[in-house]
Amino acid sequence: MSIYWNHRVKTLSPYIPGEQPQKGGFIKLNTNENPYPPSPKVIEAIQKALGAALRLYPDPGCTELRAAIAQRYGVMPEQVFAGNGSDEVLAFAFAAFFEPAGENQKALPILFPDITYSFYPVYAQLWDIPFTPVPLAADFSITIADYTRASGGMVIPNPNAPTGRALSRSDLVSLLRFYAQEGEGTCGRVVLVDEAYAAFGGDLEAAPLIQEHPNLLTVHTLSKAAALAGLRVGFAIGNRELIQGLCRVRDAFNSYTLDRLAQAGATAAILDAPYYAEVNRKVIATRNRVSAALLGLGYEVIPSQANFLFIRSRQSRGIQFFTFLREQGILVRHFNKPRIADFLRVSIGTDEEMDRFLGVCESYRA
Ligand SMILES: *Cc1c(COP(=O)(O)O)cnc(C)c1O
Repeated sequence: MSIYWNHRVKTLSPYIPGEQPQKGGFIKLNTNENPYPPSPKVIEAIQKALGAALRLYPDPGCTELRAAIAQRYGVMPEQVFAGNGSDEVLAFAFAAFFEPAGENQKALPILFPDITYSFYPVYAQLWDIPFTPVPLAADFSITIADYTRASGGMVIPNPNAPTGRALSRSDLVSLLRFYAQEGEGTCGRVVLVDEAYAAFGGDLEAAPLIQEHPNLLTVHTLSKAAALAGLRVGFAIGNRELIQGLCRVRDAFNSYTLDRLAQAGATAAILDAPYYAEVNRKVIATRNRVSAALLGLGYEVIPSQANFLFIRSRQSRGIQFFTFLREQGILVRHFNKPRIADFLRVSIGTDEEMDRFLGVCESYRA
């Protein structure tokens, strides 16, 4: 606490990111980074952008990047917003589309799962948006009937994090229809779908649905599937009005959120779909192999459509298992939270890294 902090800062409970050890030697399976390098074309594009032009501000409209994204997803550039990591895009979306309690006594709480990306409650707090966490079922699946009620809007990662479980397209469409209904507490409510891991789940991408569902905003990141966590690029796809709403928030904050190198690298990444299809096919194959091996060793494994597994030892507490792995040089993520404190989230590494991990799990004996 400091006397210099205002009320907002005093009452925040900020997000705590996974550890980024500054010394090597760890097998790092704790922040869902891609174990493979970005496309060589990304490096080339950044090297090309690295020069005297850095004197100039970057393109505030991220024109080339948005055109590449639009082409890749079959939408118009006006339906694409680019930002400094999807965390920034999410923060802007909360600010643009959800009603703060202070300004509107009738503001209804927004809904998101009780077990989900832990940044959502932080953004809600930051912008003073009331929220109600909706409990996942015992098997960590989402019960869509729990979301079909009056609310200020809803947020859902698909697949969910840290569980890895996915929502089907038909369930998502039911939600979009409900949230588009006429009526108090439904009309004009935005459904925000965070697709950080959609590339690892087969047929999950919801962006094509924006043409029919003007209340849908999908949020994407290059950090996981495009192996560019270090570049900080995310984007959103939605109807023009939603995109303009995001631009208004950005331009009330910082017009140049994406620098020249990030725009060049991200554009090259979007254009090199074949490279990433190959890389992520490997990640998915490794995930399926490791999942089966862990089940064989007696661990509980939640079915995952993401680039991580959510697992539990039946013999010990989550923190003990976490500590054992850490002592063996393997870093995973433990969330000390109700319902999931005995689970660990394990990012999918290379096959060699995962073989080391499986060896340690075998010696730990489920
Ligand atoms: C990693 C992650 C993000 C953040 O992505 P950045 O683009 O790196 O900010 C957003 N949502 C979920 C669910 C994530 O797991």
